[in-house]
Amino acid sequence: MPMFKKVLIANRGEIALRILRACKELGISTVAVHSTADADAMHVRLADESVCIGPASATHSYLNIPSILAACEITGADAVHPGYGFLSENARFARILEEHNITFIGPSAHHIEIMGDKIQAKLTAKELGIPVVPGSDGGVTSDVEARKIAAEIGYPVIIKAASGGGGRGMKVAKTEAEVGTALSTARSEAKAAFGDDAVYIEKYLGKPRHIEIQVLGDGKGGAIHLGDRDCSLQRRHQKVWEEATSPAVTPEQRAEIGGIVADAIAKMKYSGAGTIEFLYENGEFYFIEMNTRLQVEHPVTERITNMDLVYEQIRIAAGHPISAKQEDITFFGHAIEVRINAEDPETFAPSPGRISFYHPAGGVGVRVDSGVYQGYNIPPYYDSLIGKLIVHGRTREECLQRLRRALGEFVVDGVKTTLPLFRRLIEEEDVITGNYDIHWLEKYLGMK
Ligand code: ADP
Repeated sequence: MPMFKKVLIANRGEIALRILRACKELGISTVAVHSTADADAMHVRLADESVCIGPASATHSYLNIPSILAACEITGADAVHPGYGFLSENARFARILEEHNITFIGPSAHHIEIMGDKIQAKLTAKELGIPVVPGSDGGVTSDVEARKIAAEIGYPVIIKAASGGGGRGMKVAKTEAEVGTALSTARSEAKAAFGDDAVYIEKYLGKPRHIEIQVLGDGKGGAIHLGDRDCSLQRRHQKVWEEATSPAVTPEQRAEIGGIVADAIAKMKYSGAGTIEFLYENGEFYFIEMNTRLQVEHPVTERITNMDLVYEQIRIAAGHPISAKQEDITFFGHAIEVRINAEDPETFAPSPGRISFYHPAGGVGVRVDSGVYQGYNIPPYYDSLIGKLIVHGRTREECLQRLRRALGEFVVDGVKTTLPLFRRLIEEEDVITGNYDIHWLEKYLGMK
């Protein structure tokens, strides 16, 4: 069977290391790329080869397509893994690699494009039988049209940018009187942030959970789902704590929504790993978007299914079938991931700098994915995620107890981290019982 000889990892931090580990286990050589600020990074030290692709600013390094292409040519890499963020959902990048006979480890540029436009993504999902939030079938431009649709679906409604991302370009209208302003603000914000003022309208759900389904497609009409993750604990639309499986979803619901999603992915002939994100309220799932890449929180799924998602991504991109069938996938126990950010745990201000002492948690059922080490200098130029603590237990109770124990062991000195926040959260009754929605954390932090 064909396999890549050399994979270039177009990313940094913990995810670059995660990909590197999968490549090593597959016997594939690795090329790390890095900015001048990341010359001492762990992914550079552990890779077989490394290439400096530009200065500290991500625009000129990790997002610099000509530089990355040149690094592929110099090293003879035959595939690129983009990780998450940076160029992972850039259809142009996928296309350019293809033109240079280098495999993009991810879906086709066409699928990235469709899912990158939220209006098209929603239409596609609906056509494929995935339940969506009631709303407009396409873009909305006039007040009259917006009011008409809002009256049909009922208030409150949310106006969202077609090119949106990171929770920006969204406006809620509680009554008809608020529609005009919400529409014009959403459009101008969308134009400013994404260079595209296309917006759409949908029902605003009051207390949903964020539940997502992990899928793998073989690109030839075969697909499986790997169950759900609950990522409701968020701050400013950024996930903070993720669980698999969701404490709110029954095995029957999981099998039903998972089956619907896997069928849709198969019909699309989608290739590689992907995530279908839903809002979940009163027992119903509502599609919000699809991410056509590996997610930060993928390890919780790996832990309960015993699958290696990066291994699958690489194999699928090389033309192999998915290594498991749906009936082989079972969900064992419970897993929780907490994101360790170099941030003040109260103000969330970034806290770059030198790690003077580092002692990660260990022991049974504990996994730490991180790119840092003692003496490492966290640069101020990139996102503040420095590691992920992933814990597994046979039951959710055992998992929580293990997480409490692991949080007690974890030491990161020299910079502030979000570890103290998790030590507080794990003592909260609602967290212990799994009784939270997407607004819970912001309310707890006094943001609302
Ligand atoms: P983005 O791509 O910007 O992350 P999403 O469509 O994934 O946009 O939505 C981000 C977040 O906005 C959701 O996780 C949820 O908190 C909120 N949101 C989006 N659509 C709705 C809706 N219809 N009702 C309530 N909240 C919503």
